[in-house]
Amino acid sequence: MRPIVLGKPVVDGLRVTIPIDPGSATRWFRQNVFRVQYSGLESLDPVDDAILVVPALGTVLTLAYACGVPVQVERVDGAYAVTAQKLADTFGRLYPHFLSRGFELRGERVGTPGPDPERSDPALLLYSGGADSTSSLIEHSDDVRALLTVWGADVHSADKALWERLLRTVRTGELTAGRRLVVARSNLQDLIDGPALSRYHAHGFDSASWWGAVQHGLALTSLAVPVAVALGLPRVLIASSDMAGTPVPWGSMPIIEDEVRWSGGRAENDQPELSRTEKITRVIAPYLHDGGRLALAVCYQPSRGPSGLNCGRCEKCVQTTTQLLLGGVDPREVGMPTSPQTFAVAKKALTRGEWHGDDSHRTIWRSLQADVPPTLTGVCAIPLFRDYLEWLRHAKIVISSDGAEPLTRLMIKNAQYLGGRLLPWLPFRFRKRCTQLAVRLTRGY
Ligand SMILES: [Zn+2]
Repeated sequence: MRPIVLGKPVVDGLRVTIPIDPGSATRWFRQNVFRVQYSGLESLDPVDDAILVVPALGTVLTLAYACGVPVQVERVDGAYAVTAQKLADTFGRLYPHFLSRGFELRGERVGTPGPDPERSDPALLLYSGGADSTSSLIEHSDDVRALLTVWGADVHSADKALWERLLRTVRTGELTAGRRLVVARSNLQDLIDGPALSRYHAHGFDSASWWGAVQHGLALTSLAVPVAVALGLPRVLIASSDMAGTPVPWGSMPIIEDEVRWSGGRAENDQPELSRTEKITRVIAPYLHDGGRLALAVCYQPSRGPSGLNCGRCEKCVQTTTQLLLGGVDPREVGMPTSPQTFAVAKKALTRGEWHGDDSHRTIWRSLQADVPPTLTGVCAIPLFRDYLEWLRHAKIVISSDGAEPLTRLMIKNAQYLGGRLLPWLPFRFRKRCTQLAVRLTRGY
């Protein structure tokens, strides 16, 4: 196997580019240069090449584990190199069909691993504006010295309008304004062919994508490492995902991010002991009941709404709306659109199996139904919400598995794959319209 070769990082102000020779993994690469443009830092001068290469490594390592391809760099931080090797075993256990035994990281090791930081040491928090990272920010408000928001993760790197809406919300939000905000704009999702990998590994990930099931935790924490070093912060926090206690493998878990180390610090998967419902009802709701104000950005749909950050109609939005109501919070106060129409869409989708997901989705909906109190008071007594919650309490929820309607599903997956390959070649305005149309046509898939 010819290795994936990462060239020497080229630094131009706060922009880092790393040329890549994909070696034997050529078929999975869409571009041959890794790029990240940071803003909100004074300088990257104090950051060694051995650290600057870490974001590119975090993006290609999971691909190298899957293909069993070595990765070669000139110099790499010694502690991060140990991480890379350990995670080959971790991903090999999570996804037994990965060829991770063939993985090897070649290159000079630099730096001296230090002791792990204390739990109260200053931290950098990966912040998306969603419920999970908001809960982390409330809990670690005193320790978090800077926020890192990534353009190219939840928001596509070409969607300037949505990105500016999100950034405006972060800059003006009561919880976030006045904090140091670092932005990283990167091609971490465009560099490798996520749609092709999702399709190739479809049986291994159930209904998830390569980005969700494999790539995002290691890629995002690795993107944060040069920022933590530049700011002298020994901890990087990434909010945990809620897998509802099921054994479904996911691309962000304590066994992944807690292993990410560099000489001088480590990453932490934050609040893994709390479910998403608990983060909303036990952390976010009390903050709001105490007079705090928030705008949440939880939605991943390209058609999030004409001016807001959430569509209000997708499974993620409706789940969040339900969790907020159970916490006694009016969802409209945090930017969740709710109306008779949004609940009508939800009732139809939830009972007809139009939303697909793995066991964690089914478990979460079952526990939300069980959490609806016998007597609805406060915000839950508002007629719009009361009607929905009374319906939810006894509804027969159907979250379809990926195996439902196999022929239709296969055709739609193939169409999505072809669309994903063709769309990047189209002008963004046209691409966005096509994506919105595809979401409407394939709603539930
Ligand atoms: Zn949504």
